Amino acid sequence: MIKFAKFFSEARFKSPAKNFEEVSQPIEVRVDPLTGNKCRMNIERTKRPKQVSENNAELDNLINASREKCYFCPERIETSTPKFPEGMPERVKVGKATIFPNLFPFGGFHAVGVFSDKHYLRLNEFTPDLLRDTFNACIKTFELASRIDADLRFWHINWNCLPPGAASIIHPHVQIFADPVPTPFLKDMMDKSQEYHSEEHLNYWADLVDAEKRSGERYIHGSRGIHWLASFAPQGNKEVMAVVEDISNLSGLKEKMEKFCEGLSAILKGYHEMGVRSMTFSTFAGPSDVFMNDFYWLNARLISRPNPSPFYISDCGFMEKMHLEPVIETLPEDLAAGLKKHF
Ligand SMILES: [Zn+2]
Repeated sequence: MIKFAKFFSEARFKSPAKNFEEVSQPIEVRVDPLTGNKCRMNIERTKRPKQVSENNAELDNLINASREKCYFCPERIETSTPKFPEGMPERVKVGKATIFPNLFPFGGFHAVGVFSDKHYLRLNEFTPDLLRDTFNACIKTFELASRIDADLRFWHINWNCLPPGAASIIHPHVQIFADPVPTPFLKDMMDKSQEYHSEEHLNYWADLVDAEKRSGERYIHGSRGIHWLASFAPQGNKEVMAVVEDISNLSGLKEKMEKFCEGLSAILKGYHEMGVRSMTFSTFAGPSDVFMNDFYWLNARLISRPNPSPFYISDCGFMEKMHLEPVIETLPEDLAAGLKKHF
């Protein structure tokens, strides 16, 4: 039932690298089987192995310069970060994780979750325990907030890692959001999953997992109902998707949290080994008070972002920001092959 649609075209030009002989480069356009969102790749470029530019000096400078005045470090977190208003605990703590309101929110409920007292962690240092405590703290905070305001039904956990991933603070933290309405992308996914269910009498997410498992090209790993795969038509570079079987909202994730965090930790290790230092992560959950797992399953996605570097160039240009048709640098099939060995 699932269609993995690809279109091909070619770009022809006289190349200065070949004495102005006419050359051709193949272009592939892929269409997401659920949303219809497109992405494009220049297959030759995509296959080209990339030099991992470590630029550690730049990253080290960034880490050291930011540590002295960091609001999330243990010396300042208690005095410099906001507290939740009446009706909530002032801050929510689980293990080493601390959740508090965002000082500059862009929503009625917008909070920050600091992973631990460590000012900087490499992507391969986010252990399953650290992830579990933080995500459990996020869900606990959502549950408390929804008890006060029942309209806050759409919960999402987001993680911008390092400035190229849009983090303004180096110290590892997530941002959590609860809102009465879903974001447009989540709404589109829920609506189209429901359409698929009413037309095919099947669950899109179960079909997706089955199809990806069968082909094996993009399926990375699956265990106890958590499936990791490289997205067929990624919206960002090195996009990896987690699909959580039979669960539609974030409260349901609690029972599968260990496995989810083991998987995420392995993917982050894989990213690190591939030379990725910066990334962006989000969860896409159905409403907190409804079980709609017959047609929609909780999913999460992460994408790599450029590495901190003195000649930093954003990975979001006119195609990504204006036309919403991203240009992708890595073939999903190669990404899956590279990440499998971390499980
Ligand atoms: Zn810090």
